[in-house]
Amino acid sequence: MAIATVNPTSGKTEVIMDPHTPAEVSARIAEASAAAAILRRTTFAQRAEWMRRAAGFLDEHAEGLGELITVEMGKPITQSLAEVAKSARAMRFYAENAERFLADAPLDDPTTVNAARAWTRYEPLGVILAVMPWNYPLWQVIRFAAPALMAGNAGLLKHASNVPQCAMALDSLFENAGFPAGSFRTLLIGGGDVADVLADPRVAAVTLTGSEPAGRSVASIAGRHIKKAVLELGGSDPFIVLRSADVAAAAQTAVRARVSNNGQSCIAGKRFIVHTDVYDDFAREFTRLMSELVVGDPLDRASEIGPLATEAGRAELAELVEDARQKGATILTGGSAPDLPGWFYSPTVVADLPDDARLIQEEAFGPVASLYRAADDDDALRIANQTGFGLSSAVWTTDPDEEERFVAELDAGAVFINGMTVSHQELPFGGIKRSGYGRELAAVGQREFCNLKTVWKA
Ligand code: NAP
Repeated sequence: MAIATVNPTSGKTEVIMDPHTPAEVSARIAEASAAAAILRRTTFAQRAEWMRRAAGFLDEHAEGLGELITVEMGKPITQSLAEVAKSARAMRFYAENAERFLADAPLDDPTTVNAARAWTRYEPLGVILAVMPWNYPLWQVIRFAAPALMAGNAGLLKHASNVPQCAMALDSLFENAGFPAGSFRTLLIGGGDVADVLADPRVAAVTLTGSEPAGRSVASIAGRHIKKAVLELGGSDPFIVLRSADVAAAAQTAVRARVSNNGQSCIAGKRFIVHTDVYDDFAREFTRLMSELVVGDPLDRASEIGPLATEAGRAELAELVEDARQKGATILTGGSAPDLPGWFYSPTVVADLPDDARLIQEEAFGPVASLYRAADDDDALRIANQTGFGLSSAVWTTDPDEEERFVAELDAGAVFINGMTVSHQELPFGGIKRSGYGRELAAVGQREFCNLKTVWKA
C-alpha cells in the first residue's frame, strides 16, 4: 500500500511520501534507543514539563491538526477538533499522574518474606513500537505515547499508510517540546516491514491497534522474539435495550454510538439487541433518526457523517450489506452509497437477519447498524455473546437486578449502563476474546510497558 494521503471526500491523491529505507529505519531505531537510555534517568517532573509543553502545542495548532485529520481520513471537523483536545487532555493527565501510578509500593509486613524491607517499583522497558490505525490518527497514538514517554520509555510509530501527514506531525511533536531527540520517532514503513523492526534487539515491546489479521501477525512475531505485546483489535459491540429502558433516550444515544467517527470506531455500538416488548418502538425511532442524519463534506460543520476513510473499506461494508440483503434481511433505511464523489455510504439499518448473514459475526466498520429482536433477557445475552469479539458493550435498563445480571454475564472488556461506550483516560480500555489483550489508559495502561521490579532487602 502506498504511503499517501488520498482525500476520502474527493477520492483524489493529495500527498505521496517515500517510505524510509532500511538504513533510515535503523538510524531512527538507534536514535530512539539512545533517547530511551537518557529518558530513564530523567525525573517525572522533567518529563511532565515537556509533556505539558507538547500538550500546549496541540492546543495552539488545533485548527490545523483537526483539518489534517479530516482531510486524511474524513471524519467531521468538529469530531477532529474534539480528538485534538482529548489528546492534549490525556497528555496533561499522564503528566499529572504518572509519578503516582508508578510509585514504589512497599510490602506491608516484610517479615513474612524474611526481609527488613521489600517493595516493588515500575521501570521503563526501553523502546516501544506502536502499530496504529487511521481511525483516530492522533488520539490512538497519544494514548500510547503519553503514558509510555511519561514512564521513561521511547516510542516508535508505524502509523497507518493512509495518514502519513498526521504521522509526520507526531514525529517532531515531543522533540519540539523538549524531550531528548529520538524520544519519539515515526517510521514511514508498510505493514510488511514491521517484522524486522520488532525483531530488532533495540526494540523491547509492541502495541498494536488494528484489525485481527494484523494483530495475529504482530503477536506471533512478538511471541517468536519473546517480547511483550498489547493488542487492541476489532469489535462488534452489542447495544442492548431491555424492557425497562427509556426507549426514546436509548434510540437517540444508539445513533451516536453507531455513527460517531463515520461509524469507524472499534467501540461503536454495532449490533442493537432489543427486547421484543420494546423492539417496534425502538426500531421506528432509531430508523427515523438514522435516516435524518446529514451526510456531506466533513469540513462543513453542518455535516454529521463524512465519507469512509478508504475505497476498500467502503467496498467491504457494502459487501456485508449486500450479503444480508441477498439472504433475506430487511433494509429499513440506507443500504447504498449516495450520489457523491469520494467514499460515502448512507446510514443504514438492517433487520431480520438470517442466521447465516455475515453481519451477525463480522464487524461492520462504517455507518451500518444491525437490529436483533430478543425474546427475553436470556435471548439478549445469547445474541450479545455470540460473536468472537469482546471489546465493550452497552445495556439500557432501569431494573437493578437486570443491570447486575448483564454486568456479570456480558463477555466484554467493559459495560456501559444507560449510555454509550466512550474511552476515558481515567478508565482502563481493552478487550477479551478476539478483540485482543492487555489494557490501555488509566494506571494499568501505563504499567503495561514497565518492568515491575521486586526489591528484597535483608
Ligand atoms: P489494519 O489494517 O490492521 O491497520 C492497522 C495498522 O496495522 C496499520 O498501521 C497497518 O499498516 C498495520 N498493519 C496491517 N497489517 C499488518 C501486518 N500484517 N503486520 C504489521 N502491521 C500491519 O486495521 P484498519 O483496517 O486500518 O483499522 C480498523 C480496525 O482496527 C478495525 O477492526 C477496528 O475495530 C480496529 N480498531 C481497534 C481499536 C481498539 O482499541 N480495540 C481502535 C481502533 C481501531 P498499513 O496501513 O500500512 O497497512
